[in-house]
Amino acid sequence: MLAVSKGHPEASVRKFANDGQIEFGESRLQEALSKINNLSDLDRIRWHFVGRLQANKVRGVVKNFDYIHSVDSFNLAKRISRIAGEENRCPQLMLQVKFREDHAKGGFSIAELLEAWPKIKTFSNINIVGLMTISPIAFELDDRKSLFKECRNLADQLELKDCSMGMSGDWQVAVDAGSTWVRVGSLLFGDRVK
Ligand SMILES: *Cc1c(COP(=O)(O)O)cnc(C)c1O
Repeated sequence: MLAVSKGHPEASVRKFANDGQIEFGESRLQEALSKINNLSDLDRIRWHFVGRLQANKVRGVVKNFDYIHSVDSFNLAKRISRIAGEENRCPQLMLQVKFREDHAKGGFSIAELLEAWPKIKTFSNINIVGLMTISPIAFELDDRKSLFKECRNLADQLELKDCSMGMSGDWQVAVDAGSTWVRVGSLLFGDRVK
């Protein structure tokens, strides 16, 4: 379980870390950096970036995060690879895939991913471990489960171990469908404060 702490104070992260939670997710670099700095005494925790990643934020994310779940284009993967090389880092990446048309969300279409894959998998200084997807907001749980199963099947086809899928409202069907990372925010922390 990834505890998505965006919009929640660092005191909440500290509380869950003291209870044994290790993996925390953030989606805005500025907000994350102050938490990461102020919580640097918690040396057991790991940070995951889950939000839309703009080109000018890549260096900051590469330097401060172990995982990036939201790699939504070929050019972004290429840029992360180059900058990770310059910074002597090797982040774990997940490629974000859009299984249904959804204008609110970014991500590779299946066709784009299959086309880009032979090249992306050769990039250095990155370790592609899986796929990530987000269900369209209007979907019922049954439709979410089918979508998550498609994601699991595609990851299996590409021999990728991880699937980052499922949030507070749909984590159970995501687990049934083979999720390896559920990204849970409000169910753990309550309503976001900012
Ligand atoms: C905020 C966020 C979550 C957590 O959402 P909740 O509904 O609060 O569980 C999960 N994934 C991403 C990409 C997010 O931005």
